[in-house]
Parts: sequence; C-alpha cells; structure tokens
Amino acid sequence: VSRQWHPHDSRVQVGPITIGGERIVLVAGPCAVESREQALTIAHEVRRYGAVLFRAGAFKPRTSPYSFQGMEEEGLKILAEVRAATGMPVVTEITSPDQASLMETYVDMVQVGARNMQNFELLKAVGRSGKPVLLKRGLAATIEEWLMSAEYIMAEGNDNVVLCERGIRTFEPLTRNTLDLSAIPVLKNLTHLPVVVDPSHATGIRAKVPPMARAAVAAGADGLMVEVHHDPDNALSDGPQSLYPQQFGQLARDIYVIAPVV
Ligand code: PEP
Ligand code: MN
Repeated sequence: VSRQWHPHDSRVQVGPITIGGERIVLVAGPCAVESREQALTIAHEVRRYGAVLFRAGAFKPRTSPYSFQGMEEEGLKILAEVRAATGMPVVTEITSPDQASLMETYVDMVQVGARNMQNFELLKAVGRSGKPVLLKRGLAATIEEWLMSAEYIMAEGNDNVVLCERGIRTFEPLTRNTLDLSAIPVLKNLTHLPVVVDPSHATGIRAKVPPMARAAVAAGADGLMVEVHHDPDNALSDGPQSLYPQQFGQLARDIYVIAPVV
C-alpha cells in the first residue's frame, strides 16, 4: 500500500467507473436493500442526480441481533437487477468468507465494513477474489492498522483496494462518530490507494451529511459514499442519516463547484 513502492496514485476500475484520478466518484444508495421497488426507486433517483455507483447492503452487520439483518441472497439478486436497469455497477457489504462466490455472481465491488476491518480471514478471502474492495476504517482503528488491513488484501494478489473513512469513535456523542478528515491528507502522503469518504455513517444525522461531504472533497477525497432513501422515516436501517433524493441532488451540484466529478 505504500507510496514508496508505487509513487503514482492508483486507479481502481469498477465496471466502466474509475475510482482515483482527477474526478470525484459519487456512490449512493440506501443502507439496505429492503425490496425490489425500494432499491429500483432509489437507484433511478440517485442516478438522475449524478451517482455513478449504487451501494446497498444485503447482509447487514447490525449492532442488535433483533434488528433487520438484510435480504441476503434475495437482496443480491435485486442489486444485479438494479445494475441491469440503470447501468450502474453495484457495491455491497460482504460479512463472511462464505459469501465470496455469491458476491462473484451478483456484484461489482465488495465492501468490508468497519466492524470487519480486522476480520483477517475475510480480508484474505476478498484478496483472493480479485473483485474491487471498499475497505472501511474500523470504529477505533488507527490509520496504520487500517493500512495493514489493506495490505492483507493486497498480499493475496488483489490490488483493487479503495479506502473508506467513515468516522471513528471519540468521546463526542452529538456526532454519531467523528469524521476524521485529517486522515485524508495523511493517507495521500502514505499510500497510493484511492480514498472515499462516507459522511453518512460518520455523522448519523441527515443535516450534518452535506457539510461534511463538501469538506471531504475539499480535503482531497476521491469520492463520496452517501446514504439516500426516498422514505427515510420508514427505512429499515439508518433512516435518520439518509438524505432525501433531492438533497442528494443539491449536494452533487455543490460538489461540482468544488471539484470535477465523474
Ligand atoms: C454501512 O456502510 O452500511 C455500514 C454498516 O457502515 P460501517 O461498516 O461503516 O458502520
Ligand atoms: Mn448504513
């Protein structure tokens, strides 16, 4: 992962979309696939407003075992349908090495979530698969620990790794997590890997998402991953942090002012 061995910025190809390089990549979608209609509705909305990758969870690593756990394979099939209907490549979270072949079949990029950043068997499995990987920072991981996790994936021969800053746990409860924007310039110095920022999980509150998203792009992020829902009050997960589609549209327009977008 070190710039020492690879001085130029890496570019990670996800279908026709390049992450890293001159243009900002907008990744959007609901926290979870809840139904075919929900996923397709949101996908068409976010694509209209400038998203180029669709992200939604089918396997959800919830804090409580009694919360919605995701639609699993049914959700992956819906994601493949979203790709066919919109042309957007799809990203989803993998929570166990057992899911690797399902991911191979249905999606274009896999996300390793914050809770699994140091699940080393999972990292090795996604490393062996060759699919692009979006590696989120652990809830309380240092930047070096995070980069070591990226190293686990690359050591298995998969160079297609994108880092995702999603906030870290601090003493402050009013922001769900604290978005570590300073990680962006630190990473840009240490590693050639692209960096995406997730202001949704970082803040947990809809109103705080756009300002932190704009700040992330100003600080040098290569992309944003934003949760969007057309009916957040009835979302099965992360409704309070999900932007309404029109708010996502406004955010996209604000981003165009700051940096060139794919
Ligand atoms: C998610 O992206 O929906 C998610 C669960 O995020 P994190 O792993 O960052 O908490
Ligand atoms: Mn979520």
